Amino acid sequence: AERNAKYKRILLKLSGEALMGDGEFGIDPKVLDRMALEIGQLVGIGVQVGIVIGGGNLFRGAALQAVGMERVTGDHMGMLATVMNGLALRDSLERSNIRSRVMSAIPMSGVVEHYDRRTAIRYLTSGDVVIFSAGTGNPFFTTDSAACLRGIEIDADAVIKATKVDGVYDKDPVKYPDAVKYDSLSYDDALDQKLGVMDLTAICLVRDHDMPVRVFNMNKVGALLNLVVGGKEGTLIDR
Ligand code: UDP
Repeated sequence: AERNAKYKRILLKLSGEALMGDGEFGIDPKVLDRMALEIGQLVGIGVQVGIVIGGGNLFRGAALQAVGMERVTGDHMGMLATVMNGLALRDSLERSNIRSRVMSAIPMSGVVEHYDRRTAIRYLTSGDVVIFSAGTGNPFFTTDSAACLRGIEIDADAVIKATKVDGVYDKDPVKYPDAVKYDSLSYDDALDQKLGVMDLTAICLVRDHDMPVRVFNMNKVGALLNLVVGGKEGTLIDR
């Protein structure tokens, strides 16, 4: 079945918010289990899956700063939040019999492995899902930037960004029913902040290294598998 996949190795970016489901905070185990199922379908057709997970469902440095906390401390809390999400996702995957590993950009001996690129690639090659947590390990970055960075490092065929809408629109489709979806965009178009695709650091990184990015709707059942086998799904950002 391997030959059916368009992408052999992907870097999937899951936001922390996606894990909340209908809640306002935290992790909805039902949502995680559904994601595990969809990720398992990719593994089932031989796709190597690296995942960068966000932390916005728990803590965000910028939000903590807004209520008076020092930014770097807030960012550290945000990065730790991504490790918690990573552990929860691994738990779901393993319960679905999908072998998975959590690596952290911040060493956390006894809890998760420290990120090492060559080890990560070895795991991916042997079919394990690798969850990259703690972002880039540095404050003032986002997990979108971490996703682009890890995607480039592991030589993924694409960075696949999961969102709550079908792709990138000319304006917010939740607010404006007449919003128009783009099937494709150039990196330079994506740098237009109004479109809000990702932060500029992330887009510059993928642009500099010609890494294609696909934005799709994770709430749409089957969309992830469909795009990995080459279906028209979401918005493609490339040169
Ligand atoms: N963060 C960080 N450095 C990184 C990645 C993340 O400091 O390389 C912190 C930052 O405070 C961020 C939080 O971790 O707000 C959670 O990540 P993010 O907001 O990207 O999560 P998402 O929006 O994907 O849920």
